[in-house]
Amino acid sequence: RAKASGRNRLEVFDDALRAELDEVARTEAALRRALRDDELLLHYQPVVRAADRRVVGYEALLRWDRPGHGLVAPDAFIPVAERSSLVCDLDRWVLRTATQQLARWRAEGRADARTTVAVNISGRHLVDPALVADVADALAAADLRPGALVLELTETVLVSHPLATTHLERLRALGVAVSIDDFGTGYTSISQLQDLHADTLKIDKSLVWSTSPGAAELVRLVVHAAHAFGLSVVAEGVEDEEQLRQLRQAGCDEVQGYLLGRPGTDPRPAASAATATAGPGRPTTSLPRQA
Ligand code: C2E
Ligand code: MG
Ligand code: MG
Ligand code: MG
Repeated sequence: RAKASGRNRLEVFDDALRAELDEVARTEAALRRALRDDELLLHYQPVVRAADRRVVGYEALLRWDRPGHGLVAPDAFIPVAERSSLVCDLDRWVLRTATQQLARWRAEGRADARTTVAVNISGRHLVDPALVADVADALAAADLRPGALVLELTETVLVSHPLATTHLERLRALGVAVSIDDFGTGYTSISQLQDLHADTLKIDKSLVWSTSPGAAELVRLVVHAAHAFGLSVVAEGVEDEEQLRQLRQAGCDEVQGYLLGRPGTDPRPAASAATATAGPGRPTTSLPRQA
């Protein structure tokens, strides 16, 4: 009897595992079709200067308008895509689309020559031999100078692979800016910041939200160390004025979050930000021009 029930448990486990693998395979196939059938889109979230809330750029965030599922967030499908080179195809599409969008906003006078667009690059793409060419091609196709592009990488992928370092050096030599995303969630210590070959450090929202004793002091230390190593600092997930005040006080250069503007296809700074940057007579519904 014990044996029988043991086998039953194994079969149940087997069925669950098989169902899960089937689901992953279905999602992966659907995602390949999505890329081909134009079901992907980008939301853009404003990145603003902490001092005066002036919009300095936008982060491109991938969405999947999956039939029958609604708008799917990246956390639900990027991990599936990361199981294969599919994620590189997605990243390439994002690079192309985001750079073209910035070029269009410029042509429309909604962005100026200094406005940047940030794109998230997966660890797999970072070590793909085609990465540097993919980036250069996207910039050339959109007729943008490399400084208009920020590549966001998570810290965990950077330490491990020798190609990552080579690629980062080549990209930075091109003039593309490199940002370390989600800082504070991984394994990079403050002392490693100088070896990261990056331009910007992006403090993760979990640290921005933390109310544990010492969290504010930790943010101050991180900002101080980043600046000492020549990195600028962005904080993400800023949802209220108190967080903004503290980050500003800590010396944070730029901020991003629902307080300043939610991600959208037609991103606009939040009302208070628009008021702070719109000139006299300018309708607050239009994006502020950055003179
Ligand atoms: P991330 O790059 O750290 O992006 C920040 C996430 O925080 C975004 O979630 C954004 O919508 C959300 N967020 C921004 N401000 C606030 C706020 O004030 N409050 C709260 N609660 N959330 C805020 P999203 O768009 O769901 O993206 C999740 C992650 O998926 C991203 O984290 C990034 O790692 C990944 N991702 C997004 N787009 C791409 C892409 O094109 N390629 C790759 N490889 N990964 C992507
Ligand atoms: Mg990011
Ligand atoms: Mg982040
Ligand atoms: Mg994140």
